[in-house]
Amino acid sequence: MTIQWFPGHMAKAKREVQEKLKLIDIVFELVDARIPMSSRNPMIDEILVNKPRIVLLNKADMADEEITKQWIAFFQNQHIKALAIDSQAGTGVKQIVAAAKEMLKPKFEKMAAKGIKNPRAMRALIVGIPNVGKSTLINRLAGKHIAKTGDKPGVTKAQQWIKVGKEMELLDTPGILWPKFEDEEVGLKLATTGAIKDTILNLQDVAVYALNFLKQHYPERLKERYSLVEIPEDIVALFDEIGKRRGCLMSGGLVDYDKVAELVLREIRTEKLGRLSFEKPNE
Ligand code: GDP
Repeated sequence: MTIQWFPGHMAKAKREVQEKLKLIDIVFELVDARIPMSSRNPMIDEILVNKPRIVLLNKADMADEEITKQWIAFFQNQHIKALAIDSQAGTGVKQIVAAAKEMLKPKFEKMAAKGIKNPRAMRALIVGIPNVGKSTLINRLAGKHIAKTGDKPGVTKAQQWIKVGKEMELLDTPGILWPKFEDEEVGLKLATTGAIKDTILNLQDVAVYALNFLKQHYPERLKERYSLVEIPEDIVALFDEIGKRRGCLMSGGLVDYDKVAELVLREIRTEKLGRLSFEKPNE
């Protein structure tokens, strides 16, 4: 999945989301539970203005459970409803409709008070950066495979509503927004979790970032996975240790740093080091 985010594309994406907002009652802002801040759009508050919103911490199955709880409390403190979900397996997805119903209760009660007998279904839109799981969640909510995975910018088609039970309708095309990639650390976190393509950033840079992070926050997991007695101070020495143990070698027996970088990132993304969160609230 590659989207080139030029300023013109960002403006267009923002306009497209704002157009859709007119049609809907509530926004589901999808973020990656492992990096809830870095996987957000930097202009999200400005784009959504005062639209009712629920933050969905997706891929919670891959994130550190304890830290996800802290994030939910963090959002709650800002009076933003947040839920942890796993769109792939469906965990937590049922709570979404219930939470939306609760949030929109006053609006629908007003409609009922005006004498509208059969209130329409709540209308919802999913927004988020690429690869955060928008299509997966749409499919989950729809209960069958309607939305294609993968974004196809430039392909226009009529918007359709997907029925989610009797009480909710969801726009079939999500709002695709850009991350704050001008921030280097955000870029490294997005790359570490696999949200952006490996070809965009230097693989070794990403692995250096990821290994330093693990060294600081999950040293025991790092030791266990790569059978290290101690974690070397020096990052090159750490690459060497992992490379030798895992056979990431060039001819002549020298460690192949690209291979080490690839291995480490693949193992992080496939949970070989367990559930990991790369940011905590209030950091
Ligand atoms: P989109 O670009 O936002 O529409 O993202 P996709 O729905 O295409 O998902 C991107 C990748 O993340 C796919 O490989 C999905 O299978 C995976 N994915 C989506 N949601 C989850 C989740 O909750 N847990 C896990 N483990 N993987 C997920």
